[in-house]
Amino acid sequence: MTGLRFEAVRASIVAASVRLADLGFFAGIGGNLAVRIDTELMAVTPSASDYYSMKNEDICIVRMRDLKLVEGTKQPTTESGMHAAFLTCRPDLQVSLHTHQPLASAVTLLGIDMPVEGAESRASLGSALRIVSYAPSGTSFLVSAFKKKLRKDTNGYLLRNHGIVCGAKSIDEAIANVLLAEEQSAYFLRSRIKNNPNFSEISPLVMQQALSIL
Ligand SMILES: [Zn+2]
Repeated sequence: MTGLRFEAVRASIVAASVRLADLGFFAGIGGNLAVRIDTELMAVTPSASDYYSMKNEDICIVRMRDLKLVEGTKQPTTESGMHAAFLTCRPDLQVSLHTHQPLASAVTLLGIDMPVEGAESRASLGSALRIVSYAPSGTSFLVSAFKKKLRKDTNGYLLRNHGIVCGAKSIDEAIANVLLAEEQSAYFLRSRIKNNPNFSEISPLVMQQALSIL
């Protein structure tokens, strides 16, 4: 097994990470990405890495079954267990993407499923982004909570008080899904503000400011 075997997937993860950092979805060193290599292995971003200085060789090759590092010198992302659970449970998916994107992360504070609007969007994400109970990042408790919510018909999950996870058949599709999740979150938050029974009591200035960022 040589590093060359993994060169293309590593390069695509580095490029995608820069794109996600540019979008503000990989804020700081947060967020991580896993790509299935075969039935046994996945490639993942390293833990606590600055995405703008990350190199191909920093991408870790990990065995999904037991999270053993097969190739690489860096520590794999602490969310490797969550990505492995997703890709194992959903053999139809190739990519698992975890972000701390602003609006969808705000929705996770509500602790409820978020309905997805529009047939095309539902085909990509599922009828709702499902809420996963809170557990600290990078723990087996979070992996267990996530596994309980995994469904064949849902590609988007809200990690309570934390961020989101989207699955997809390719890296491009995964990025499209997190962008879509952000759009859906803006729509959802806007609707919640407008349907708030105390809507008339909210200062127009506060309302204008809230809606201007959605
Ligand atoms: Zn996170």
